[in-house]
Amino acid sequence: MKKIVIANFKMNKTPSETKQYLISFLSKYEDYKTDLILALPYTSLSIAKFMIDKREISLGAQNLCDDDEKGCTGEISGKMLADSGVSHVLVGHSERRAKFKEDSKIINKKIKNGLKNRLSIILCVGESLADKNTMKTLSTLRMQIEEALKGLYENELENLIIAYEPVWAIGSGKTPSPKEIENAVRAIRKVVEEDFSKKAAQEIRVVYGGSITPKNISKFASIEGLDGILVGGASLESSVFLQIINAMI
Ligand code: PEP
Repeated sequence: MKKIVIANFKMNKTPSETKQYLISFLSKYEDYKTDLILALPYTSLSIAKFMIDKREISLGAQNLCDDDEKGCTGEISGKMLADSGVSHVLVGHSERRAKFKEDSKIINKKIKNGLKNRLSIILCVGESLADKNTMKTLSTLRMQIEEALKGLYENELENLIIAYEPVWAIGSGKTPSPKEIENAVRAIRKVVEEDFSKKAAQEIRVVYGGSITPKNISKFASIEGLDGILVGGASLESSVFLQIINAMI
């Protein structure tokens, strides 16, 4: 099974910077090696779509509006993303939960809206440092997943990836141990089993994200039950990102 590799550019790179990046990246990346998803800023989607045409690379967005109403100045709908060639969208990233006050209700609405528009969802969940220090990692994961997936049908989980991203690991240079990730992944699958079925728990795709670099990638390449990785800061330099991808094969 190919590993999933997701790049989250966050709010980095103008369209011309994205173009320069992709000229270099696409000349060296071999499509068949991983299931690659590039989650880019809205303004880079169009140039990226053009450049990855005929390549086996999926285009992702980092956000979508939680509803389809027209009175949402400044927002981007799921329908617009789908029509722009986007196949995946990040929902529930800890930066959006914290800075943009996205609560579980909004996250649940965004997921439903994305799925309705035939987008695949990358649902980000993870504990804060306070949760970790008070042994609340697993209960936080349970709560975030249950609230996010409320009202979904089991067959919709085919179009969902869960990204385990401890808040304290994002952009901090700190990472959980492989054992901690393995436990979190097992807990995530258990919640899916209890809320949906054993089959859904086995089939749901789970990735890890938080401070992955070429130096520490070997730690994440063969964790039991883990289907791939989500890379933020280290995806921004094409040669660095390629080193990470090559270590996942
Ligand atoms: C992220 O923002 O989703 C992420 C994984 O960031 P970083 O790799 O920079 O920690």
